[in-house]
Amino acid sequence: MSHMSQLHEPHPHRIAIVGVGRVGATFAYALLLSGLVGEIVLINRDHKRAEGEAMDLNHAMPLSETVRIWAGDYPDCAGAAVVVVAAGTAQRPGETRLDLDQRNAAIMADIIPRITAHNQTGILLIATNPVDVLSYVAWQASGWPHQRVIGSGTVLDTARFRYLLGEHLGVDPRSVHAYIVGEHGDSEVPVWSTANVAGMRLDEFCQREDCPLGPEVRERIFHRTRDAAYEIIQRKGSTYYAVAVGLLRIVESILRDQHTVLSVSSLVPGHYGLENIYLSLPTVIGRNGVERVLHLPLDKGETAALRESAGVLRGVLNELDRES
Ligand code: NAD
Repeated sequence: MSHMSQLHEPHPHRIAIVGVGRVGATFAYALLLSGLVGEIVLINRDHKRAEGEAMDLNHAMPLSETVRIWAGDYPDCAGAAVVVVAAGTAQRPGETRLDLDQRNAAIMADIIPRITAHNQTGILLIATNPVDVLSYVAWQASGWPHQRVIGSGTVLDTARFRYLLGEHLGVDPRSVHAYIVGEHGDSEVPVWSTANVAGMRLDEFCQREDCPLGPEVRERIFHRTRDAAYEIIQRKGSTYYAVAVGLLRIVESILRDQHTVLSVSSLVPGHYGLENIYLSLPTVIGRNGVERVLHLPLDKGETAALRESAGVLRGVLNELDRES
């Protein structure tokens, strides 16, 4: 599809993916099957890898949806509604997400200007870890309004939390409304105080339905949520399916202007006294990217934990600043 790489016309349904490793390629696959977009361009430092993925994905097309998919380069970001960045190294067993900051911040500083040289109107969606720190770095490097630079944040952690709660409570996880906020990582915070099923706070639900949800059960569910990546990486090397679907959900809400509430990472607009930091809070996502960051009525302990999480992220950003 070499002629496709010459196309620079704006296309409302073009999505560019920069970094076509396990996360980027799995997202491309989910996007192909979704039928949501007309064009998917794959950009990778190792171009051959992107070519291989494009070939493999294209061969699914006669059996699925019609999408133009090709291995391209930065000029192909022109006109993309969303540019998803999943380039960089992933955690190795035993590493935290924050251990990746220097390596991946350098990659981000290299990639973002190459994207914005060809696209000034799209939305940047960052998946590379540590995602909160790198979304901030990407925002600064882009010079774009913060509403159009988003990190996948705790969309994945929130999904894991809802899945585990649904399993424990015996209800569809889509009927569980609960959020993980703060860092996508070790300092993340479960918001128990507003978690509910059918509008019933979990305490009330569990009392009525006679299922235990004491402190020990809560702690176990949260730890399984927070530490899921470590558990998966230990067993299969990396995680990519659930994050790919999370990215798809964010992109869908943007393209269809759905105003879905998703716990993406974005610039906190002063809530809880926090500013100049990227972290996750329930956020209304639409055509313009961040439409609104919701101000959850957190209890005292949750507010303190969120501030602590912001402090951890601020520390990493300051450290990066000193090193650069
Ligand atoms: P991977 O090693 O499989 O893929 C990374 C890809 O990026 C490779 O193909 C590599 O060639 C490419 N790349 C590296 N530097 C590049 C550059 N400068 N320009 C273009 N491409 C470049 O890794 P993965 O498992 O796909 O993970 C990718 C990132 O996503 C990691 O940082 C990982 O921690 C993160 N991740 C995030 C979440 C989340 O919820 N946000 C979940 C899982 C993984």
